[in-house]
Amino acid sequence: MATVNGEETRRKHTGQCLDCGKALELYMLDLKKSRRILHCVSCGLYHFYKKDFFGKWKLARAAKVPDLWG
Ligand SMILES: [Zn+2]
Repeated sequence: MATVNGEETRRKHTGQCLDCGKALELYMLDLKKSRRILHCVSCGLYHFYKKDFFGKWKLARAAKVPDLWG
């Protein structure tokens, strides 16, 4: 994957859309419950992430609605 300066750093905090491959925006972050939701501004798909045992964000599911986790 080709990256330019700055772009690579930014991607670590966001992500790439499963559907269209565009950059994701942070929609919700819950550090207490170790989960976050990223939103694709291009196609509107929400990506639900959970922190795994090693403290890495792992994609749990993707959906068109943002309220699956309340
Ligand atoms: Zn998308």
